[in-house]
Amino acid sequence: MAQKVVVVGAGIVGASFAWHLAQAGAAVTVIEAAGIASAATEKSFGWINASFSETPAYFALRMAGIEAWREMGDALGPEAGLRWGGSLWWEEAGDALETQAAALRDLNYDMEVVGKNRVMAMVPGLAQAPDAAIHVRCEGAVDMAAATRRMLDGAVGMGAKVLVGVALQGVEAPGGRARAALTSHGRIEADAVVLATGAASGAVLAALDFGLPMDNKRGMILHTAPTAPLLEPIVLAPGVHVRQATDGHLVVGEIFSGDGPGAARLATDPAGLAAEVMARLAALLPATRGLALERVMLGTRPVPGDGFPAVGPVPGIDGLYLATMHSGITLAPVIGQLGAAEVMGGPDAALLAPYRPARFA
Ligand SMILES: Cc1cc2nc3c(=O)[nH]c(=O)nc-3n(C[C@H](O)[C@H](O)[C@H](O)COP(=O)(O)OP(=O)(O)OC[C@H]3O[C@@H](n4cnc5c(N)ncnc54)[C@H](O)[C@@H]3O)c2cc1C
Repeated sequence: MAQKVVVVGAGIVGASFAWHLAQAGAAVTVIEAAGIASAATEKSFGWINASFSETPAYFALRMAGIEAWREMGDALGPEAGLRWGGSLWWEEAGDALETQAAALRDLNYDMEVVGKNRVMAMVPGLAQAPDAAIHVRCEGAVDMAAATRRMLDGAVGMGAKVLVGVALQGVEAPGGRARAALTSHGRIEADAVVLATGAASGAVLAALDFGLPMDNKRGMILHTAPTAPLLEPIVLAPGVHVRQATDGHLVVGEIFSGDGPGAARLATDPAGLAAEVMARLAALLPATRGLALERVMLGTRPVPGDGFPAVGPVPGIDGLYLATMHSGITLAPVIGQLGAAEVMGGPDAALLAPYRPARFA
Protein backbone atom coordinates (compact mmCIF):
# COMPACT_ATOMS: atom_id res chain seq x y z
CA MET A 1 0.00 0.00 0.00
CA ALA A 2 1.22 3.53 -0.81
CA GLN A 3 2.90 5.46 1.96
CA LYS A 4 0.47 8.14 3.23
CA VAL A 5 2.10 11.54 3.65
CA VAL A 6 0.51 14.76 4.89
CA VAL A 7 2.40 17.88 3.78
CA VAL A 8 1.57 20.90 5.94
CA GLY A 9 1.92 24.22 4.09
CA ALA A 10 1.34 25.08 0.43
CA GLY A 11 4.19 27.50 -0.06
CA ILE A 12 6.89 26.67 -2.58
CA VAL A 13 8.63 24.23 -0.23
CA GLY A 14 5.49 22.23 0.57
CA ALA A 15 4.55 22.24 -3.13
CA SER A 16 7.95 20.83 -4.08
CA PHE A 17 7.61 18.08 -1.46
CA ALA A 18 4.12 17.27 -2.74
CA TRP A 19 5.38 17.04 -6.34
CA HIS A 20 8.37 14.83 -5.49
CA LEU A 21 6.45 12.63 -3.03
CA ALA A 22 3.64 12.07 -5.53
CA GLN A 23 6.22 11.23 -8.17
CA ALA A 24 7.72 8.65 -5.77
CA GLY A 25 4.31 6.98 -5.42
CA ALA A 26 3.15 8.38 -2.04
CA ALA A 27 -0.50 9.09 -1.33
CA VAL A 28 -0.11 12.82 -0.60
CA THR A 29 -2.47 15.22 1.13
CA VAL A 30 -1.39 18.87 1.32
CA ILE A 31 -3.12 20.98 3.97
CA GLU A 32 -2.86 24.76 3.91
CA ALA A 33 -4.32 27.03 6.59
CA ALA A 34 -4.44 30.26 4.52
CA GLY A 35 -3.93 30.27 0.73
CA ILE A 36 -1.61 28.67 -1.81
CA ALA A 37 1.72 30.56 -1.92
CA SER A 38 0.13 33.31 0.20
CA ALA A 39 2.86 33.65 2.87
CA ALA A 40 6.61 34.19 2.25
CA THR A 41 6.47 32.57 -1.18
CA GLU A 42 4.50 35.24 -3.09
CA LYS A 43 6.20 38.04 -1.13
CA SER A 44 9.67 37.00 -2.20
CA PHE A 45 12.05 38.62 -4.68
CA GLY A 46 12.31 35.27 -6.48
CA TRP A 47 16.08 35.29 -7.09
CA ILE A 48 17.63 31.86 -7.63
CA ASN A 49 21.24 32.19 -6.57
CA ALA A 50 24.30 30.93 -4.71
CA SER A 51 25.90 34.36 -4.32
CA PHE A 52 25.63 34.56 -0.56
CA SER A 53 26.62 31.24 0.98
CA GLU A 54 28.39 31.43 4.32
CA THR A 55 30.03 27.97 4.06
CA PRO A 56 31.26 25.75 1.19
CA ALA A 57 28.64 23.15 2.18
CA TYR A 58 25.85 25.71 1.92
CA PHE A 59 27.25 26.90 -1.41
CA ALA A 60 27.09 23.28 -2.66
CA LEU A 61 23.45 23.03 -1.56
CA ARG A 62 22.56 26.30 -3.28
CA MET A 63 24.34 25.22 -6.47
CA ALA A 64 22.30 22.02 -6.35
CA GLY A 65 19.27 24.31 -5.98
CA ILE A 66 20.14 26.10 -9.23
CA GLU A 67 20.67 22.77 -11.01
CA ALA A 68 17.39 21.39 -9.68
CA TRP A 69 15.54 24.47 -10.95
CA ARG A 70 16.92 23.90 -14.43
CA GLU A 71 15.50 20.36 -14.43
CA MET A 72 12.23 21.27 -12.74
CA GLY A 73 11.79 24.30 -15.00
CA ASP A 74 11.61 21.99 -18.01
CA ALA A 75 8.93 19.93 -16.28
CA LEU A 76 6.90 22.96 -15.09
CA GLY A 77 6.89 24.72 -18.45
CA PRO A 78 6.83 28.45 -19.31
CA GLU A 79 3.94 29.24 -16.92
CA ALA A 80 6.39 29.02 -14.00
CA GLY A 81 7.99 32.24 -15.25
CA LEU A 82 11.60 31.11 -15.00
CA ARG A 83 14.13 33.50 -16.47
CA TRP A 84 17.87 32.79 -16.64
CA GLY A 85 19.29 36.24 -17.34
CA GLY A 86 22.14 36.22 -14.79
CA SER A 87 22.69 38.96 -12.21
CA LEU A 88 24.67 42.16 -11.74
CA TRP A 89 25.60 43.02 -8.13
CA TRP A 90 27.06 46.29 -6.90
CA GLU A 91 25.30 46.84 -3.57
CA GLU A 92 28.78 47.51 -2.26
CA ALA A 93 31.85 48.96 -3.98
CA GLY A 94 35.63 49.10 -3.66
CA ASP A 95 37.22 46.67 -1.18
CA ALA A 96 33.87 45.19 -0.16
CA LEU A 97 33.05 44.28 -3.77
CA GLU A 98 36.56 42.85 -4.25
CA THR A 99 36.18 40.73 -1.07
CA GLN A 100 32.84 39.36 -2.29
CA ALA A 101 34.32 38.65 -5.74
CA ALA A 102 37.32 36.86 -4.22
CA ALA A 103 35.04 34.70 -2.06
CA LEU A 104 32.98 33.69 -5.11
CA ARG A 105 36.12 33.03 -7.17
CA ASP A 106 37.42 30.70 -4.42
CA LEU A 107 34.20 28.72 -4.79
CA ASN A 108 34.69 28.53 -8.58
CA TYR A 109 31.38 30.32 -9.07
CA ASP A 110 30.34 31.21 -12.62
CA MET A 111 31.14 34.94 -12.26
CA GLU A 112 33.38 37.78 -13.35
CA VAL A 113 33.94 41.37 -12.30
CA VAL A 114 32.84 43.72 -15.08
CA GLY A 115 33.49 47.44 -15.57
CA LYS A 116 31.27 50.41 -16.38
CA ASN A 117 31.03 49.82 -20.13
CA ARG A 118 30.04 46.15 -19.79
CA VAL A 119 27.41 47.05 -17.19
CA MET A 120 25.99 49.75 -19.46
CA ALA A 121 25.90 47.31 -22.38
CA MET A 122 23.99 44.77 -20.27
CA VAL A 123 21.55 47.36 -18.84
CA PRO A 124 21.36 50.26 -21.33
CA GLY A 125 18.57 51.95 -19.34
CA LEU A 126 20.78 52.80 -16.34
CA ALA A 127 21.13 56.48 -15.47
CA GLN A 128 24.68 55.80 -14.38
CA ALA A 129 26.70 52.59 -14.33
CA PRO A 130 28.98 51.71 -11.41
CA ASP A 131 32.76 51.45 -11.89
CA ALA A 132 32.55 47.71 -11.19
CA ALA A 133 29.92 45.02 -10.65
CA ILE A 134 29.88 41.26 -10.14
CA HIS A 135 28.23 39.53 -13.06
CA VAL A 136 27.00 36.01 -12.31
CA ARG A 137 25.95 34.15 -15.43
CA CYS A 138 24.18 31.09 -13.97
CA GLU A 139 21.58 32.85 -11.80
CA GLY A 140 17.93 33.45 -12.56
CA ALA A 141 14.52 34.14 -11.11
CA VAL A 142 11.10 32.56 -11.03
CA ASP A 143 7.47 33.60 -10.64
CA MET A 144 7.21 32.03 -7.20
CA ALA A 145 3.43 31.79 -6.89
CA ALA A 146 2.95 30.49 -10.44
CA ALA A 147 5.67 27.86 -9.96
CA THR A 148 4.08 26.79 -6.66
CA ARG A 149 0.71 26.33 -8.36
CA ARG A 150 2.32 24.39 -11.22
CA MET A 151 4.01 22.04 -8.74
CA LEU A 152 0.73 21.48 -6.87
CA ASP A 153 -1.17 20.94 -10.13
CA GLY A 154 1.47 18.39 -11.10
CA ALA A 155 1.10 16.63 -7.75
CA VAL A 156 -2.70 16.60 -8.10
CA GLY A 157 -2.25 15.12 -11.57
CA MET A 158 -0.35 12.28 -9.87
CA GLY A 159 -3.15 11.73 -7.33
CA ALA A 160 -2.38 14.20 -4.52
CA LYS A 161 -5.10 16.12 -2.67
CA VAL A 162 -4.73 19.80 -1.76
CA LEU A 163 -6.98 21.08 1.05
CA VAL A 164 -6.99 24.86 1.54
CA GLY A 165 -8.36 26.41 4.74
CA VAL A 166 -7.29 23.40 6.79
CA ALA A 167 -4.85 23.96 9.67
CA LEU A 168 -2.65 21.43 11.44
CA GLN A 169 -3.47 21.35 15.13
CA GLY A 170 -1.48 18.34 16.31
CA VAL A 171 0.09 15.04 15.38
CA GLU A 172 -1.23 11.74 16.73
CA ALA A 173 1.84 9.73 17.64
CA PRO A 174 1.17 6.73 19.88
CA GLY A 175 4.46 5.30 21.13
CA GLY A 176 6.32 8.21 19.50
CA ARG A 177 5.40 7.20 15.92
CA ALA A 178 3.30 9.53 13.70
CA ARG A 179 -0.04 7.95 12.76
CA ALA A 180 -2.22 10.93 11.82
CA ALA A 181 -2.32 14.67 11.31
CA LEU A 182 -4.94 16.28 13.54
CA THR A 183 -6.45 19.22 11.70
CA SER A 184 -9.14 21.88 12.01
CA HIS A 185 -11.22 19.63 9.73
CA GLY A 186 -10.54 16.31 11.42
CA ARG A 187 -8.00 13.50 11.50
CA ILE A 188 -5.99 12.51 8.42
CA GLU A 189 -4.17 9.20 8.64
CA ALA A 190 -0.47 9.53 7.88
CA ASP A 191 2.68 7.43 7.92
CA ALA A 192 4.65 10.67 7.72
CA VAL A 193 3.91 14.36 8.28
CA VAL A 194 6.09 16.97 6.54
CA LEU A 195 6.07 20.44 8.11
CA ALA A 196 6.65 23.02 5.37
CA THR A 197 5.20 25.72 7.58
CA GLY A 198 7.74 28.48 6.90
CA ALA A 199 7.92 31.26 9.48
CA ALA A 200 5.26 29.53 11.62
CA SER A 201 7.48 26.46 12.13
CA GLY A 202 8.72 27.56 15.57
CA ALA A 203 5.16 27.86 16.88
CA VAL A 204 3.98 24.65 15.17
CA LEU A 205 6.88 22.69 16.68
CA ALA A 206 6.51 24.27 20.13
CA ALA A 207 3.03 22.73 20.25
CA LEU A 208 4.68 19.37 19.47
CA ASP A 209 7.25 19.82 22.27
CA PHE A 210 10.25 20.59 20.08
CA GLY A 211 12.09 23.90 20.49
CA LEU A 212 13.06 25.35 17.11
CA PRO A 213 14.58 28.82 17.54
CA MET A 214 13.50 31.11 14.71
CA ASP A 215 14.89 34.53 13.82
CA ASN A 216 12.27 35.48 11.21
CA LYS A 217 12.84 38.76 9.41
CA ARG A 218 10.36 41.11 7.74
CA GLY A 219 10.80 42.34 4.20
CA MET A 220 9.01 44.36 1.53
CA ILE A 221 8.54 43.57 -2.16
CA LEU A 222 6.92 45.84 -4.74
CA HIS A 223 5.38 44.89 -8.08
CA THR A 224 4.99 47.55 -10.77
CA ALA A 225 2.66 47.47 -13.75
CA PRO A 226 4.09 45.59 -16.75
CA THR A 227 6.42 47.65 -18.89
CA ALA A 228 8.40 47.30 -22.12
CA PRO A 229 11.54 45.11 -21.96
CA LEU A 230 14.01 46.97 -19.73
CA LEU A 231 16.15 44.43 -17.93
CA GLU A 232 17.73 41.14 -18.88
CA PRO A 233 19.85 40.48 -15.75
CA ILE A 234 18.68 40.88 -12.18
CA VAL A 235 20.12 44.17 -10.90
CA LEU A 236 21.24 44.53 -7.28
CA ALA A 237 22.29 48.14 -6.64
CA PRO A 238 22.70 50.02 -3.33
CA GLY A 239 19.30 50.40 -1.65
CA VAL A 240 17.28 48.79 -4.44
CA HIS A 241 17.21 45.51 -6.33
CA VAL A 242 15.03 44.87 -9.34
CA ARG A 243 14.23 42.23 -11.91
CA GLN A 244 11.78 42.02 -14.77
CA ALA A 245 9.33 39.12 -14.69
CA THR A 246 8.44 37.23 -17.85
CA ASP A 247 5.11 39.13 -18.13
CA GLY A 248 6.97 42.47 -18.06
CA HIS A 249 6.25 43.70 -14.52
CA LEU A 250 9.16 44.74 -12.32
CA VAL A 251 9.76 43.06 -8.97
CA VAL A 252 11.53 45.47 -6.64
CA GLY A 253 13.09 45.00 -3.21
CA GLU A 254 15.06 47.02 -0.77
CA ILE A 255 17.54 45.02 1.29
CA PHE A 256 18.24 41.31 1.49
CA SER A 257 19.22 40.72 5.08
CA GLY A 258 15.90 41.93 6.46
CA ASP A 259 17.95 44.19 8.75
CA GLY A 260 19.05 47.79 8.22
CA PRO A 261 17.23 51.12 8.46
CA GLY A 262 14.34 49.96 6.26
CA ALA A 263 13.45 47.16 8.70
CA ALA A 264 12.14 49.53 11.38
CA ARG A 265 10.18 51.57 8.83
CA LEU A 266 8.39 48.46 7.60
CA ALA A 267 6.43 48.47 10.85
CA THR A 268 5.79 52.20 11.10
CA ASP A 269 5.65 53.58 7.56
CA PRO A 270 5.50 50.92 4.83
CA ALA A 271 3.83 53.29 2.32
CA GLY A 272 6.57 55.89 2.84
CA LEU A 273 9.27 53.25 2.45
CA ALA A 274 7.63 51.93 -0.73
CA ALA A 275 7.57 55.46 -2.20
CA GLU A 276 11.22 55.93 -1.30
CA VAL A 277 12.23 52.63 -2.92
CA MET A 278 10.30 53.60 -6.09
CA ALA A 279 12.21 56.91 -6.10
CA ARG A 280 15.51 55.01 -5.81
CA LEU A 281 14.37 52.81 -8.72
CA ALA A 282 13.57 55.88 -10.84
CA ALA A 283 17.01 57.33 -10.08
CA LEU A 284 18.60 54.04 -11.16
CA LEU A 285 16.41 53.42 -14.24
CA PRO A 286 14.80 56.68 -15.42
CA ALA A 287 12.36 54.79 -17.71
CA THR A 288 10.56 53.57 -14.58
CA ARG A 289 9.61 57.11 -13.50
CA GLY A 290 5.83 57.31 -13.21
CA LEU A 291 5.38 53.54 -13.58
CA ALA A 292 2.31 52.43 -11.61
CA LEU A 293 2.95 50.55 -8.39
CA GLU A 294 0.51 47.63 -8.42
CA ARG A 295 1.34 45.73 -5.25
CA VAL A 296 3.14 46.49 -1.99
CA MET A 297 3.76 43.26 -0.13
CA LEU A 298 5.09 42.88 3.39
CA GLY A 299 6.38 39.40 4.07
CA THR A 300 8.17 37.41 6.72
CA ARG A 301 11.32 35.48 5.84
CA PRO A 302 11.43 32.13 7.65
CA VAL A 303 14.88 32.07 9.27
CA PRO A 304 15.98 29.25 11.60
CA GLY A 305 18.02 30.55 14.56
CA ASP A 306 21.50 30.00 13.07
CA GLY A 307 20.48 31.26 9.61
CA PHE A 308 20.75 27.87 7.88
CA PRO A 309 17.90 25.60 6.71
CA ALA A 310 16.31 23.18 9.16
CA VAL A 311 15.53 20.02 7.17
CA GLY A 312 15.05 16.47 8.35
CA PRO A 313 13.45 14.27 11.01
CA VAL A 314 12.18 16.02 14.12
CA PRO A 315 13.58 14.32 17.23
CA GLY A 316 10.87 12.82 19.44
CA ILE A 317 8.31 11.78 16.79
CA ASP A 318 9.24 9.17 14.18
CA GLY A 319 7.75 10.13 10.83
CA LEU A 320 7.67 13.87 11.56
CA TYR A 321 9.86 15.77 9.08
CA LEU A 322 10.66 19.49 9.00
CA ALA A 323 11.67 21.71 6.07
CA THR A 324 11.95 25.41 6.86
CA MET A 325 14.46 27.89 5.53
CA HIS A 326 15.26 31.29 4.17
CA SER A 327 16.23 31.20 0.45
CA GLY A 328 13.40 28.74 0.02
CA ILE A 329 12.85 29.93 -3.55
CA THR A 330 16.39 28.94 -4.53
CA LEU A 331 16.25 25.72 -2.50
CA ALA A 332 12.68 24.39 -2.90
CA PRO A 333 13.33 22.03 -5.84
CA VAL A 334 16.45 20.42 -4.37
CA ILE A 335 15.13 20.24 -0.80
CA GLY A 336 11.83 18.77 -2.03
CA GLN A 337 13.67 16.20 -4.13
CA LEU A 338 16.17 15.11 -1.44
CA GLY A 339 13.71 15.43 1.44
CA ALA A 340 10.97 13.44 -0.31
CA ALA A 341 13.43 10.62 -0.97
CA GLU A 342 14.31 10.54 2.75
CA VAL A 343 10.63 10.61 3.80
CA MET A 344 10.06 7.63 1.49
CA GLY A 345 12.74 5.68 3.39
CA GLY A 346 15.73 6.33 1.13
CA PRO A 347 19.26 6.88 2.46
CA ASP A 348 20.17 10.14 4.16
CA ALA A 349 21.21 12.81 1.67
CA ALA A 350 24.78 13.99 2.31
CA LEU A 351 23.91 17.53 1.12
CA LEU A 352 21.33 17.84 3.93
CA ALA A 353 23.60 16.52 6.72
CA PRO A 354 24.58 19.95 8.15
CA TYR A 355 20.97 21.12 8.42
CA ARG A 356 19.23 18.60 10.66
CA PRO A 357 16.70 19.95 13.18
CA ALA A 358 18.44 17.76 15.80
CA ARG A 359 21.20 20.40 16.04
CA PHE A 360 18.73 22.54 18.01
CA ALA A 361 17.68 19.75 20.41
C1 LIG B 1 10.94 40.07 1.13
C2 LIG B 1 11.43 38.68 0.87
C3 LIG B 1 12.34 38.46 -0.16
C4 LIG B 1 12.84 37.16 -0.38
N1 LIG B 1 13.69 36.97 -1.44
C5 LIG B 1 14.13 35.71 -1.71
C6 LIG B 1 14.92 35.47 -2.87
O1 LIG B 1 15.17 36.37 -3.68
N2 LIG B 1 15.37 34.21 -3.09
C7 LIG B 1 15.08 33.17 -2.23
O2 LIG B 1 15.54 32.05 -2.46
N3 LIG B 1 14.29 33.38 -1.13
C8 LIG B 1 13.81 34.60 -0.86
N4 LIG B 1 12.98 34.82 0.22
C9 LIG B 1 12.68 33.70 1.11
C10 LIG B 1 11.60 32.81 0.52
O3 LIG B 1 10.50 33.57 0.12
C11 LIG B 1 11.18 31.76 1.57
O4 LIG B 1 12.32 31.08 2.07
C12 LIG B 1 10.23 30.74 0.95
O5 LIG B 1 9.13 31.36 0.33
C13 LIG B 1 9.74 29.77 2.03
O6 LIG B 1 8.76 28.95 1.45
P1 LIG B 1 7.92 28.00 2.38
O7 LIG B 1 7.04 27.21 1.49
O8 LIG B 1 8.83 27.28 3.31
O9 LIG B 1 7.11 29.01 3.34
P2 LIG B 1 5.81 29.89 3.08
O10 LIG B 1 5.71 30.38 1.69
O11 LIG B 1 5.79 30.91 4.17
O12 LIG B 1 4.62 28.86 3.27
C14 LIG B 1 4.33 28.25 4.52
C15 LIG B 1 2.86 27.92 4.49
O13 LIG B 1 2.54 27.14 5.63
C16 LIG B 1 1.22 27.49 6.03
N5 LIG B 1 1.04 27.08 7.43
C17 LIG B 1 1.72 27.52 8.51
N6 LIG B 1 1.25 26.91 9.63
C18 LIG B 1 0.27 26.05 9.23
C19 LIG B 1 -0.58 25.12 9.92
N7 LIG B 1 -0.52 24.97 11.26
N8 LIG B 1 -1.47 24.41 9.21
C20 LIG B 1 -1.54 24.54 7.84
N9 LIG B 1 -0.76 25.42 7.14
C21 LIG B 1 0.13 26.15 7.83
C22 LIG B 1 1.18 29.00 5.83
O14 LIG B 1 -0.17 29.46 5.72
C23 LIG B 1 1.97 29.16 4.55
O15 LIG B 1 1.15 29.21 3.40
C24 LIG B 1 12.43 36.09 0.45
C25 LIG B 1 11.48 36.32 1.44
C26 LIG B 1 10.96 37.60 1.65
C27 LIG B 1 9.91 37.81 2.70
